[in-house]
Amino acid sequence: QQQIVRREFSGTGQLADGHHVPLLANISDAAGARAAREMKAEGIGLLRTELWFLGYPEEPSVADQVEKFTDVFTAAPNGRIVVRTLDAGSDKPMPFLPMGHEANPALGVRGYRMVRKFPDVLTRQLDAIAQAQRATGADVHVMAPMISTVSEASDFVDACRARGLNHAGIMVEVPSSALRAGQILASADFASIGTNDLSQYTMGADRLQGVLADLADPWHPAVLDLIKLTCAGGAQQDRPVGVCGEAAADPALAIVLVGLGVSTLSMTPRSIPDVAAALGAVTLAEAREAAGIALAASGARSARQAVRDRLDALT
Ligand code: PEP
Ligand code: MG
Repeated sequence: QQQIVRREFSGTGQLADGHHVPLLANISDAAGARAAREMKAEGIGLLRTELWFLGYPEEPSVADQVEKFTDVFTAAPNGRIVVRTLDAGSDKPMPFLPMGHEANPALGVRGYRMVRKFPDVLTRQLDAIAQAQRATGADVHVMAPMISTVSEASDFVDACRARGLNHAGIMVEVPSSALRAGQILASADFASIGTNDLSQYTMGADRLQGVLADLADPWHPAVLDLIKLTCAGGAQQDRPVGVCGEAAADPALAIVLVGLGVSTLSMTPRSIPDVAAALGAVTLAEAREAAGIALAASGARSARQAVRDRLDALT
């Protein structure tokens, strides 16, 4: 466990030198939005919508969806609210979206790829988000999961803009998007790295297989290389790159992510104080040094250990 708790969390994610790193919350409902507010999140970095749908035998109507979004937007802390469009398929099967038999569901019709089979589901969801945004005046951003090509990104951005949703981003969960982030971010307004899936796809290790957990580890330098590349693509296009996977909730890894160039971190609300304390103990130069140490390691375990040793020496 990280031992660098020095600074009381004031409600703003800040490094020791004052560099601001907004700490956002991952939520899936209005209760989560309230928890985010209690934990002083500076906004919502990931609103997972598929959990609302899991129990439904049929797709909820647009009116039902508007009501849900309105509830969450109203309960959320001030600041941006990043809504993720439906991430159906693979580990999140929806009863009303039959994908047919897939030998490899994680490589199948999931996330944004759903538009190939059920394009109207995305259309209706974007309509509901736009209506709830107009009703509440919330600072709504929308992002699509599992984007793997430049054209998927630009099609999604066009669909958002057509509805007046003017902050349209993409999740980087597949190595192709990290490798081509500069081109993808020519059309998308921001990227949010889903380290749970990015680790799975980089390492070729199923995130649901406990026996492979040491492989699907976001500390692996190969995963960190892709995060660094994504940040470089963001810098090239002057677009922000955040992280909303579980990696952001690991205090030492959060420092490394900031050192790699990530500008926001989104996590389960209860992790915010620990991450804030860890960030408050280091400068940006020290975070960059920690990132360099992790990148130079030969594997996940040695990266984690080397960074922890360095952080312990600093404090
Ligand atoms: C991720 O993949 O890191 C992510 C945030 O999305 P989910 O865990 O919902 O797939
Ligand atoms: Mg994911």
